[in-house]
Amino acid sequence: MLRIENALDIILRHTPTLDEEEVRLAASLGRILRHDCVSDIDLPPFDRARMDGYALRAADTDTASPERTVRLRAIGEAAAGHAFNGQVNAGEAVRIMTGAPVPMGADAVEKIEVIRVMDEGSIEIEAPVKPGQSITPRGIEARAGAVMVKSGERVTPPVAATLASFGCAQLKVSRKPRLTLLSTGTELVEVEEKPGPSQIRNSNAYSLAGYAETAGAEVLSAGIVPDDSGATREAIAEALSKSDVVMLSGGVSMGDYDLVKPALRELGAEILVERVAAHPGKPTVFAKLGEKIVFGLPGNPVSVAVSFHLFAWPALLKMQGASEIHLPRMKVYAARMVKGAPPRRSHQPARLVIRDGRVEAEPLKWSGSSDLVAFMRADCLIVVPEDRQSLNEGELVEVISLRD
Ligand code: AMP
Ligand code: MG
Repeated sequence: MLRIENALDIILRHTPTLDEEEVRLAASLGRILRHDCVSDIDLPPFDRARMDGYALRAADTDTASPERTVRLRAIGEAAAGHAFNGQVNAGEAVRIMTGAPVPMGADAVEKIEVIRVMDEGSIEIEAPVKPGQSITPRGIEARAGAVMVKSGERVTPPVAATLASFGCAQLKVSRKPRLTLLSTGTELVEVEEKPGPSQIRNSNAYSLAGYAETAGAEVLSAGIVPDDSGATREAIAEALSKSDVVMLSGGVSMGDYDLVKPALRELGAEILVERVAAHPGKPTVFAKLGEKIVFGLPGNPVSVAVSFHLFAWPALLKMQGASEIHLPRMKVYAARMVKGAPPRRSHQPARLVIRDGRVEAEPLKWSGSSDLVAFMRADCLIVVPEDRQSLNEGELVEVISLRD
């Protein structure tokens, strides 16, 4: 039985990084960038007004007070996309709109709300305006030539906005891992069917497909494979021929009909991981055939989810060249006592709640690793170290976030 770290180490060492492809920025959401994005301009490209108001020379307003207002001559207008091309001299001001370039000579913007606009093309100011007020200086957000987004980062909506600002219209991103899902089990029927006696519906195909897509993979197909040696072997062979990753659920424990490992061996795959000191998720299989990788995950719906997040999530991110491949971990307080499973490290599905102003992890009440209904509400896993029989209520514990 391998320690989780050792298993993960083996998995990552044998997981290839896929090549790149070009996509348009508009099609890049969720993809992993494979080159640094350098800014081609300063941002903002000019000293920019932050308010609708008047651009002026701050020094002109030094003596302004409600009793002795300062009067300035309004000499023109600057709007977003339309600069005022003249110079603002002493005693002058320019009407300016948010987003417009601040005209030469002006060093501050006063907002329209506190300005008295007079009929005869002048304005009155009742208080001094500070130099730089309501101006976003050129280049304060970014300098031309600086690396804005690094290779390995995921394109999120704000990252996409940043890339757009610097003209990165075409991006090199990782090819999506092509993944085929196989749900093994003679007892399984599809969602449209009513299970007969001793049958259940295939639920793992849906959790795994969703998790895999969230991790950036393209799920090619997801089918049921009966517990039959030939059928298992053929389904894996066919899946290997068209995908980068084959992900199976079920058929990896010690039952007479657990046929995944024998099938992998017959196909010539090298089984590198087959048992891990994790609870749930002990029977986690990782195998390699050429450049293709295979995950044999446990059949129980909660075990498969835990095992996916511990092992397959980082592998799928590594395949895409991501700089951060692990799910976020954090320390929070345990809302109740949590049982451990020595000598295995345990992962208790839990929910984050805020109680008395602090974040607590509330272990789910569940009936075991088949309880997918309870697991539906989990948003994290409480990690119980392998040497702990239990964690105490109120103890600061580590959780793995399931919400990336
Ligand atoms: P196995 O690892 O194949 O022995 O499966 C362990 C348990 O998980 C059994 O109770 C199976 O019926 C159940 N199981 C296996 N595959 C699935 C699946 N795709 N959807 C829901 N339950 C499953
Ligand atoms: Mg089975």
